[in-house]
Amino acid sequence: MSLEDLQKLVVNFRDARNWKQFHNPKDMALSLVLEANELLELTQWKEAAEIDKLFEDKKELLSDELADVLYWVLLIANDYKVDLNSALQEKLRKNELKYPLELAKDRKEKYSEF
Ligand SMILES: [Mg+2]
Repeated sequence: MSLEDLQKLVVNFRDARNWKQFHNPKDMALSLVLEANELLELTQWKEAAEIDKLFEDKKELLSDELADVLYWVLLIANDYKVDLNSALQEKLRKNELKYPLELAKDRKEKYSEF
């Protein structure tokens, strides 16, 4: 299924329930962050190896939260006419300029510290 197809799926899910009336930009952004935080919560108080094991043994926990994040990304992009395909490509192009291979490879510093 393409990104566009997924977007239609989430819009149809929302519109069938007549929820657009509740979807103001602040609460949609808040929902996106809350779902991202649910992903973060899965990692709370765990070491990297424990998190790896959790995500391997209970992959559904990870996939559910990633899907929840994607749901809001797709809806916000739909409502504000953001072409996610172009947006991601353009953002990666910008990041390539910020993080050129010759400076960024094997380094974790922010681009402003190069
Ligand atoms: Mg969730």
